[in-house]
Amino acid sequence: MAARRIDGTAIAAAVRERVAAEVEALVAEGARRPTLATVLVGEDPASEIYVRNKHRACEQVGIGSAHRGLPAETSEDSLLEVVAGLGKDEEIDGILVQLPVPDHIDPDRVVAVIDPAKDVDGLTPVNAGLLAHGMPGLVPCTPAGVMELLRHEKVELEGAEVVVVGRSKLVGVPVARLLLGADATVTVCHSRTRDLAATCRRADVLVAAVGVPRLLGADAVKPGATVIDVGMNRGDDGLCGDVDFDPVSEVAAAITPVPGGVGPMTIAMLLVNTVAAARARV
Ligand code: NAP
Repeated sequence: MAARRIDGTAIAAAVRERVAAEVEALVAEGARRPTLATVLVGEDPASEIYVRNKHRACEQVGIGSAHRGLPAETSEDSLLEVVAGLGKDEEIDGILVQLPVPDHIDPDRVVAVIDPAKDVDGLTPVNAGLLAHGMPGLVPCTPAGVMELLRHEKVELEGAEVVVVGRSKLVGVPVARLLLGADATVTVCHSRTRDLAATCRRADVLVAAVGVPRLLGADAVKPGATVIDVGMNRGDDGLCGDVDFDPVSEVAAAITPVPGGVGPMTIAMLLVNTVAAARARV
């Protein structure tokens, strides 16, 4: 039987509605309208589209936005100054530096100067540390989106076998930590994992965050599993995930499509984080 498709577009729309209501509640309490600042160095067309989409999403829920567009030749020191300045700016609640930055800039140094209280991408060492310790902080948007999808679908996590494929700072590691916090038994796989398919087949919940088109086939999926595909791989035939959707749909109980699964959740959770950061500063 074909798996249930988890509709990330609809779930993200419900999240955005909740955010819009919360923004209005904040404003009604007399608070300043929450504002997100984006920083983009250079003119990479894909990054420009991502930033534009984030501004549009803010506008739709009543969040204000500001933008600092800097030339590609901006020095690392100048960028650090801009980002640190946004941290001190009372009008700004969230700071997002669009990655990647040009090669002459160390992204870790840039992320490290973001005020942790405004770190709506949840990538600063402070927020990563809070997450590692199971303490409240701003959580990276894509992992938070994965958890929201699982919550919405009422997937039982307590005691469940969860396999995460990928160990990046952006997705794999934080999503594994959140799943551990939900009392799942978590295994993290990566490029050196010996028998990837056999390990994945143990999973009641399989989260793929790899960046290799259709890496995981039906042989990597336990019958009845829930499959969350974070992968966004652009090829000649359009966008596809890390999971081979059609054959896996014949085995899994539920699966996120690409596009229309995790993707829309990422921006929705950015809005959630921006309002949370604003509320914490009221
Ligand atoms: P990343 O930093 O490149 O990390 C990829 C991870 O996958 C690494 O841990 C790597 O292992 C592992 N890996 C690579 N090849 C493997 C293989 N053959 N078998 C097992 N593991 C393998 O990527 P990322 O930033 O986490 O992103 C992962 C995917 O999610 C990408 O497709 C990206 O576009 C997508 N993404 C989507 C969203 C969204 O909003 N939907 C957001 C962020 C990312 P090693 O550590 O051993 O190298």
